[in-house]
Amino acid sequence: MSTTTTTTNRRRETTKSVQQHCFFCTHHIEEPDYKDVPLLGKFISSYKKIAPRRRSGLCAMHQRKLQQAIKRAREMALLPYVAE
Ligand SMILES: [Zn+2]
Repeated sequence: MSTTTTTTNRRRETTKSVQQHCFFCTHHIEEPDYKDVPLLGKFISSYKKIAPRRRSGLCAMHQRKLQQAIKRAREMALLPYVAE
């Protein structure tokens, strides 16, 4: 079978040195803004669910704040609750 599927094996490299994975920590963003829809969109799945920590790679504090920001954005009708 000649399937033309490109296997994108993007496994995260395991570096020995301690690296910051948290997007907001590395970019020195204190708190994610609920009005910043394109940014929040990066942490939302195709089913419009909030990405879990293992996916988002955020620290506990920022995951919590992101969660709150996404929920605020949903309430303000900036983001959908469910996929259409
Ligand atoms: Zn962080």
